Amino acid sequence: MPITPLASRPHDHSHCVHSALSEADAICARQGLRLTALRRRVLELVWQSHKPLGAYDILAVLSEQDGRRAAPPTVYRALDFLLDNGLVHRISSLNAFVGCNHPGHAHQGQFLICRECHAAIELEQTSISDAIIHSASDVGFVVEGQTVEVVGLCAGCQGA
Ligand SMILES: [Zn+2]
Ligand SMILES: [Zn+2]
Ligand SMILES: [Zn+2]
Repeated sequence: MPITPLASRPHDHSHCVHSALSEADAICARQGLRLTALRRRVLELVWQSHKPLGAYDILAVLSEQDGRRAAPPTVYRALDFLLDNGLVHRISSLNAFVGCNHPGHAHQGQFLICRECHAAIELEQTSISDAIIHSASDVGFVVEGQTVEVVGLCAGCQGA
């Protein structure tokens, strides 16, 4: 039986948000990084579900809920900070961001993206990234980064 990940079954998502934020606090404290109120709030918004969120959605929520007229460049810089420090991943095919499930160490992003509910399930399989590096080196290519995005139907959406 496959294990149904949290992202595609009902669960108390406030736990995900809470642990993501406290993990971010710990990582930033350990590395001497400044998790400003805005950066933390943007991370919280990215974590509002397991569905990747676009920068404009983040801006919209900031102005609606927080009454904060954050300028787009400010939000983009906050997202860059979160990306650079491995707290979120960018999903190119959706032009959106999703919280990292296992921040705090370097890894390549591998995502299963459900075309129905749009949840992004993060895998962390070094065998996949190693296979990509080896296949690339066979054609003389040096891999500097990789984000694998796979489209399909998650366990929760298959029966529906
Ligand atoms: Zn959750
Ligand atoms: Zn990750
Ligand atoms: Zn789904």
